[in-house]
Amino acid sequence: MNGASPAERLAEVRAQLAKAARLAGRAPDGVTLIAVSKAHPADAILPLIEAGQRVFGENRVQEAQAKWAALKAVRPDLSLHLIGQLQSNKAEEAVALFEAIHSVDRPSLVDALANAMAKAGRRPDCFLQVNIGDEPQKGGCPVADLPALLERARAAALPVAGLMCIPPAEVEPAPYFALLAKLARRHGVTGLSMGMSGDYESAVMIGATHIRVGTALFGERS
Ligand SMILES: *Cc1c(COP(=O)(O)O)cnc(C)c1O
Repeated sequence: MNGASPAERLAEVRAQLAKAARLAGRAPDGVTLIAVSKAHPADAILPLIEAGQRVFGENRVQEAQAKWAALKAVRPDLSLHLIGQLQSNKAEEAVALFEAIHSVDRPSLVDALANAMAKAGRRPDCFLQVNIGDEPQKGGCPVADLPALLERARAAALPVAGLMCIPPAEVEPAPYFALLAKLARRHGVTGLSMGMSGDYESAVMIGATHIRVGTALFGERS
């Protein structure tokens, strides 16, 4: 990306984040920047850690274990977020590795996570993923099923930290961010995981508490 160093890209994203937050009358530190390092090797990640980044996102449990288990052992202040689909049979591994899980989207996964947390005595933050455009091929729970899923998560005592969405591609995302914010308000949920490289400023202005940024920090994935 124009030969900018990882530290320069990080500074640029942080500056844009802060600008969008201030425009919306929000404190920049009310937004957590998740650096999405999926498909990038450890030597691409280390410069960002050296530049002060501590929160990272991965979309596959296996890949995350391979890349992060050792790093987290030497750097306990790192926080790892799972942003990709989770199979129920990987719930225990996910609970052991991640500080937050952004892809809770069905009752069976709520139950698997609740069991895994009880067993491990570890309680990562959970975001309920909403299929905000009701797209047939997309992950996330249908908008109409959110109240039931939330009820189930609360009954199972999952630590529900917020809602998460990935808006439909190729259309203006702001209305979808606004809809997710409205659903969160309606249901008394505070966190909003929304906004990626192409649209995080807009997400921040609409209330994102967590943005998930990969390409703008690491360059294109191969
Ligand atoms: C890959 C991914 C991102 C990051 O996307 P970029 O466009 O590279 O910033 C964010 N959220 C999810 C769920 C992803 O899978």
